[in-house]
Amino acid sequence: MSTLVRSRAVYCGSFDPLTLGHLDIIRRGARLFEKLTVGVGTNPDKKTLFEPERRVELTRSTVAELPNVDVRSFRGLTVDFARSVDAGVLLRGVRSLSDTETEFTMSLANSVLDPDLESVFLMASEKYSHISSTLIKQIAFMSGDGATDKLAAFLPDSVIEPLLQQVRRDRS
Ligand code: ADP
Repeated sequence: MSTLVRSRAVYCGSFDPLTLGHLDIIRRGARLFEKLTVGVGTNPDKKTLFEPERRVELTRSTVAELPNVDVRSFRGLTVDFARSVDAGVLLRGVRSLSDTETEFTMSLANSVLDPDLESVFLMASEKYSHISSTLIKQIAFMSGDGATDKLAAFLPDSVIEPLLQQVRRDRS
């Protein structure tokens, strides 16, 4: 049985795609913990725009400058993924009241599944609290001219062109 390390955290999600809101949580998490592992969920039942490998690739290239952050894909329960990398903390971002409710329920379930793991929540920064991957995909699908500029307010530069290319592929 592995020993959990409190200074090590996982931050898990679909990251379909990674947004400036996610990146903000990752940057802040990297300052709080000695090591932060970003877990890209690969749930075959959840329909995503990007394949899991691509979501890992885009996330990895975006956080490459953060030395104590690594990115891995995972399948199954977050608590098991955290254990597999010896992390003692599940880091989450919270945007709204409705997020809070969902996150509260999830953290209770996770604490039943693995009482040794602690969930830590960071409030979304004001300037990113309206950003969700779902909303950004809608904007990308509906944007015509100037889509790159429009998306720059929501996405890291490294994600904008790959998203627009994927949208074009999906349309054709
Ligand atoms: P999921 O598919 O599990 O909902 P997401 O990729 O949407 O995963 O989000 C992963 C985590 O990041 C969640 O804790 C979510 O609340 C948080 N998050 C998403 N968008 C933002 C944002 N704009 N600001 C802060 N946290 C966010």
